[in-house]
Amino acid sequence: MAQSKNARRVALITGGTRGIGFGISERLAADGFDLAVNGRREESEIAQTLDRLRAHGVRVLYCRADVADAPGRERMIAEIRDCYGRLNVLVNNAGVAPAERADILESGEASFDRLISINLKGPYFLTQLAANWMADQYKADSGFTGAIINVSSVSATVVSVNRGDYCISKAGIAMATRLWAARMAEFGVSVYEVRPGVIKTDMTAGVTEKYDRLIAEGLTVDPRWGTPEDVGNAVGVLARGELSYATGSIIMVDGGLTLPRL
Ligand code: NAP
Repeated sequence: MAQSKNARRVALITGGTRGIGFGISERLAADGFDLAVNGRREESEIAQTLDRLRAHGVRVLYCRADVADAPGRERMIAEIRDCYGRLNVLVNNAGVAPAERADILESGEASFDRLISINLKGPYFLTQLAANWMADQYKADSGFTGAIINVSSVSATVVSVNRGDYCISKAGIAMATRLWAARMAEFGVSVYEVRPGVIKTDMTAGVTEKYDRLIAEGLTVDPRWGTPEDVGNAVGVLARGELSYATGSIIMVDGGLTLPRL
């Protein structure tokens, strides 16, 4: 069935209620997307956050699920199907840092398994569910367009020997982006990677002094922390379909951290 021309586009943002994910949710709500936001917390804990998003005049569905859990991912997609009947944009944002940074000479398998499950396996198989649904939507209506946007990290290429598990999970997401871009083009779906640098969120709260110092010493070309709004703005451009003929691209949101300099 072809979608009504007036139906709002629907975006799912994993980990969409705080940090970078909330920056993305706010941008897409302001852009007029109906939202499905995912997280692990009870809905009652984030009621005010959801209200802030609804204040943009869009519908907001909260999907509580652990992205590392297969039944949880299936339930999330089923809830969106029931609520909206369509999905145009998937933003794989949810992610975790290692509970403790540990030298790769010593770090254990439990941390590796946790990071790969949440940061790589979860988004990979959530993409598979969303991609199949998007392909079905395209087959029903050749005017359908979709986007899948993976939030990776400069750690996809920049080495941190005290969190190898995190780096490997993000390098995996970079390849997943390329795989899904190649697979989904025939269904009108573009797939992108957004690669943030050092962004001020709960994830980096424990290393504030370290990055304050490194930024003051010239870590980034743009001499400041990145913000969730910076990442939200980049995702907005991609979700609105303004970067055409560019599937598979990597968008750097790192203030020039990875610019080689002499
Ligand atoms: P954050 O402030 O710690 O927020 C993490 C978000 O992910 C929360 O919304 C959390 O949900 C959700 N989440 C975590 N594990 C989950 C799971 N298993 N299932 C579902 N949701 C889960 O982190 P952030 O800094 O915004 O990071 C967001 C993404 O950007 C991550 O993929 C991270 O690797 C990446 N990134 C961050 C930085 C940085 O400097 N901050 C730099 C580069 C890349 P709850 O609120 O319900 O717990």
